[in-house]
This record gives sequence, structure tokens and C-alpha cells, in this order.
Amino acid sequence: MTDHLTAVLLFCSKRANTSARCCSGMDQLREFEKEQNQNWLKGAVGLLCLRKLLECFIDEEIGSFHQKLINECGERPCEKSCNIQQNQSHPLCEVCSSWRASILANHTSGKLMWVNSKPDQWYQDKWEVAKVYMPNGHKDHHSIGDFDIASKLRLINQCKHFKKFKLGAVCDKVSEVRNKIMHAPRYQLEQEDLIEYFKRIREFGEVLGKHRPEFKSLSKDIDEIQNRDCRLIFPDDMEAQKTQIQTEKQLEDILFAVAQVAAEQYRTRMMLEKLERQTAQPEQEKKPLAGAGSSTTMSRADKAKFVDDNKATLIQHVTVVMAITEELGDMVHPEAYSLIDAKITSHAKMRELYDNPLRSGGEEVKAAFYDALKKHHSKLV
Ligand SMILES: [Zn+2]
Repeated sequence: MTDHLTAVLLFCSKRANTSARCCSGMDQLREFEKEQNQNWLKGAVGLLCLRKLLECFIDEEIGSFHQKLINECGERPCEKSCNIQQNQSHPLCEVCSSWRASILANHTSGKLMWVNSKPDQWYQDKWEVAKVYMPNGHKDHHSIGDFDIASKLRLINQCKHFKKFKLGAVCDKVSEVRNKIMHAPRYQLEQEDLIEYFKRIREFGEVLGKHRPEFKSLSKDIDEIQNRDCRLIFPDDMEAQKTQIQTEKQLEDILFAVAQVAAEQYRTRMMLEKLERQTAQPEQEKKPLAGAGSSTTMSRADKAKFVDDNKATLIQHVTVVMAITEELGDMVHPEAYSLIDAKITSHAKMRELYDNPLRSGGEEVKAAFYDALKKHHSKLV
């Protein structure tokens, strides 16, 4: 059995009264009940899992990379507050020139973003160095939490320090996953795309897992996200569900009470029938009633007469009434059958049989009744 767990996202409304505008927002939220939207959400959560692991990893690795550059360039401060501005080239001081050469020497391919960073900070701030290998737009970002997953992946790709982890094409494939998910126009993903994207993220985790044990759990986390049923629950739906549960509970209580009464009736009926059989048995065993004879030699009129003449005795002693009634087959109308069946004691059943099918059915039914008596109460007839 697939281990399908359920994740619930609860959307609570701040206001009890919802305006038309708010309703439109709710309609948009309800779009996320669609499978493709939930796939998109799962894809984004998968990237978040990867991002969390990457933060720790990159923070440490950039720390050691920066230390390596310090060893090469020295920990001397900038000599003249060097700055690099867009489309402007200013000569750097000797210290910054040395750092610039080291940064260049550790560059793999692609465009370096000098405008992201402040050269006069290179000697003391690892992120000012790392930002050179990232895309544009990080001028004011100063810690690992400020950088999105695309920037982190670009850093891994463009900085030679990360070559030793041999991520190669896997890094590009995950970058593509990030772009596809973040640029999905309707925030939707087809199931097969989600499966492919998660395969790539798992692969990324497996490669890094060889060097960093924390990445070994990524594959399991991705499996869990993929296999969860992700549901959105809205307060209105919860109210409706609560009412439905209450109604179902009430119905269950009623049915339970009815079943208890029926069971009690059944027990009473069984007890009465047992008592009747115990009292009737000795009478039956004595001798057949007067007028009884062979089923084959007796005429229909004789059989009917026997049934009429012995009405009182038969009502008292016949116990297997329903079996006999069933023998009469179509001669007993379904409604009449139900009326007989509804009676609790065999006495009452026999009275109902006499008053209804036997009275209206005439000789034919009475003769059939006689034959059935012969079969089920051979000692009596
Ligand atoms: Zn400088």
C-alpha cells in the first residue's frame, strides 16, 4: 500500500463577512485545489528543501574558499576605498588588484558580476567575493539567506572551488528545474514534469551526499513531498464538513437504536417459538389428527375439509409456519406473506394464514397447505 499522507494548508479569513473582492481572491485560492497547482506547490516545496541544505553547505564552503584567498592575497585592508560602478572602470589599489586576480583565477565560465560587490570589503567579507560569481542584483545582500536558489546554483557553477564536488550537468539540470517552476505562468505543473524535476533534485542530493552526509536525506524528503496528498482546507468547507459529521452521527445513533429494538424483538420471537415447540411436541407425537390421510389418495375437497375442521388444533400446534407458507409459493401474495412474517408468534402467524390466503384461496390453497403440513408436520397430519 502506498503511504499516502495528507498535508493540510489552512486558509483562515480575518473577516467574517467576505466582500466581492475577497471572494475573487478565494476563487483564486481554490484554483490550488487542482492537481496541477498542487504539483507546482510540491515542486516549490522541493526547491525549498534543497535551498535549506544548500545554505549550510555554501556558507561553510565559501568560508573556506575565502580563507584560501586570504592566504593568497593577505588580510590587508584596501588602500583607497576602491569601488566598481556600472560602465565605469577605476583603477584598483594593489590589494584589491590582487584579490581581483584571484577571483578571476577561480572563475569557470559565464559573466562575472563585479558590480554586485565592493572591492574594499573583499579582504574581510566572504559574501562580497561570492557575489561576483552570482547573477546581477545582489549589491545590497550580505548573508546566505539573502540569496535565492538560482544565485546559489550559479555560484556553484561559476566558482572553481565547487569543482571538487563534481556536480557538473546536475547543477544545470536543477537550475532549469528552478526556472521552470518559478516561471510557470499559471503556477501549474503536470505530474510527469513534477516526477522529472524531483528526479533531478534527488540526483543532486545523491552526488553531494558523497561529500556531505546531510544531503543523503534529501531523496527521502523529496519522496515524502511527492507522495503526500496536499489539500487546501477553507473555513467554510470545515463548517460544512462539521455539519455533515454531526448529521451522520445522529443517523448512526438512530440506526443503532433501531437495530437494538430489532435484536430484542428477534430474541423474544425465538424464545416464544422455542416454548411453543416444547409444548406442541408431545401433542404431535401422540397421533395424527382425525381425518388425516395420504396426500396422494385424498381428494382436494377432503384436504380442504381437514384444514377447516382442524383449524383450532392446527393454529395451536403448527410451529414451522414460514416454511409452510413458502411451500405455497405464488398462492400467497407478497403482501400477505409480509403480514404473516411480521407476526411474532407461530399462533399469530397461523391465524394470519387462515384469515387471509387460506380463506381467499379456497380448496386449491387449502389442499396445498395440507400437502405442506404433511411434509413439515408428518406426525400431526
Ligand atoms: Zn582597494
